[in-house]
Formats: sequence, structure tokens, C-alpha cells
Amino acid sequence: MSTASDELLANAAASEVHFVGPREVIPTTHVAIVTCMDSRIDNFRIFGLDSGEAHILRNAGGIVTDDVLRSLVFSQRLLQTREIILMHHTNCGLHRTDEAAFRAQIAQEVGEDPPYAFGTFSDVDEAVRAAVARVRAHPFLPHRDQVRGVVYDVNTGNVREVV
Ligand SMILES: [Zn+2]
Repeated sequence: MSTASDELLANAAASEVHFVGPREVIPTTHVAIVTCMDSRIDNFRIFGLDSGEAHILRNAGGIVTDDVLRSLVFSQRLLQTREIILMHHTNCGLHRTDEAAFRAQIAQEVGEDPPYAFGTFSDVDEAVRAAVARVRAHPFLPHRDQVRGVVYDVNTGNVREVV
């Protein structure tokens, strides 16, 4: 029986005929975008991007973790990005999830606490402002004057700037 992964890998194997050609490693817009892994967020369509144009960093919630900061430092210092867009979204899985209850449930099942915060939040605008503040306060990033925070509405496609 074939799995969904089998189908996607078959698509990938056949995709070479549509390859748009090699691009430079330096993103041409010099922008890095941090957002959620949510499957409804089509970053290339939303931002009007093509391959080779921006760095896109994704995780659950689009939260600014240590690893996101690590990637942004690399993005700016070695790959010449200078601006950052942080995009949260409506109806996120992390929104209104109770972090303590979620952790307790996992700890009970596994027998130990997960070694990281999940970063759940109760107010999406506040979460965006906190993410922007964390990036602006990170001294290892040379470019912190253009850090924008937006919310994407997964039901309407609207993008609203918060900070
Ligand atoms: Zn999300």
C-alpha cells in the first residue's frame, strides 16, 4: 500500500522537468521571513516571491526560537539579508493551546518533560510584538532597523501589519 509520502516523492522525482534553473544563493530581495508551518500559508504566493528571492524560516507558530535566531544570524552575516518579516496567523494551532496542560499530558505519557517551550500564545498581536522585540534585541544580528510584524488571516487572505 502506498503512503502519502510515496506520492509526494513521486511528484518530486517528476518535478525536475519544471525546474526554473539555478539561482544565486544570496536572496535577491535580501529579506528573511519567519512564519508558521501551517499548511494554508503559501508564502511564495502571499509575498509574490519566486525561488532565490527570500529566506523563509518556518516552525510551529512562527515563533522566534534560539534556532530561528541562529538561522537569522547566518542569513544576515553570510547571505546578505538585511530585512526581516515576522508573520503569525489567525486560527493557529498554538493559539489558545494551554502550554502547561499540553506539557503535563506529554510528561505523563512519556515519563519526562519535553526539553523545549512550545510557545503557545493567547493573543496573536501580542505574540507578533514579542517576536519583533526579541529579534530587535538580539545583538548578533547586524540589521535590526527593518523588522516588521504582520498577521495573516487564513480565512480571508488579508495581511495586517501589527508593528
Ligand atoms: Zn500556526
